[in-house]
Amino acid sequence: MIHTRIKSVAQRLNWYRTKDKTFGLYQGYVFHMGDGNGMKFIFCILKNIDNITIANLQATLELRKSEFKNVNIKLQDRILYLSFEEGIFPSIRRSKFVRALDSLVEIFENLDIPKQDSCFECGAEEDLDYYNYQQMGMLLCDSCSSKMEEKVELSLLEWKSEEKNYLKGSLSAGFAATLISAIWILSSYYSNKVFPGFSLLIPYFVNKGYEWGGGRIGKWTILILALIITFFEGMCLAFIFDKFHNSPDVPLSSLLNGGAISLWVCMISVIWFFFFYKENLPEFYSAEKVN
Ligand SMILES: [Zn+2]
Repeated sequence: MIHTRIKSVAQRLNWYRTKDKTFGLYQGYVFHMGDGNGMKFIFCILKNIDNITIANLQATLELRKSEFKNVNIKLQDRILYLSFEEGIFPSIRRSKFVRALDSLVEIFENLDIPKQDSCFECGAEEDLDYYNYQQMGMLLCDSCSSKMEEKVELSLLEWKSEEKNYLKGSLSAGFAATLISAIWILSSYYSNKVFPGFSLLIPYFVNKGYEWGGGRIGKWTILILALIITFFEGMCLAFIFDKFHNSPDVPLSSLLNGGAISLWVCMISVIWFFFFYKENLPEFYSAEKVN
């Protein structure tokens, strides 16, 4: 999701977009712009710049920092990053982004930082187009984009042909879950308490156990992990209810609260696995214009 204010600035600049950012040329330099929690940001990747220019840029930014009111500026690993802090309500005007871009361009030009209106890979100036590689926008020539496409296709094929170790991963995840469940059940048994916090440890250790067993992410992984988590959470809860439902030491309300927390954790972790547990597969495609 890109914030509407960022979208409207990017749209006027005729920029392109990735899933969560916008990017494009501004006076010959490629800038990326987006938003995060309570802030908006602009960054620029300064490739092929020598150390002296980087030091000069750092010094100039330091000298001119009063121009960038309420903006944090960071220059690290050849990425110049500006973050515009804002409160709960978005408050930064379009003009502020444009002023920041204008100041940056002026600084870059004064320091003779080369323009970036050429291929990001080879520097060619013709047949350029905008692409999206791993959610990072870039300008590439036809030949470099074809090479990049081949590279990405090849790594996808490699990933598909890799052994996913479902069995070893599942056994290791099951072992980790057994261990945590045993600790949960034993500590409840001997202390007469429910310890709902253990329900958080089960998904964590199931995930870790799968990794320790060499399990890779494939199309069955989420189902396997979801089943192991549900089974162990259910088994522990069944045991705890069975032990305490008539116990004078544990009031029914604390037993029900503990059970409710565990069920929520179980449900949220399974949903989390379904939506966010993904192999970081390479992605490369033509970028769309912001609309
Ligand atoms: Zn190129």
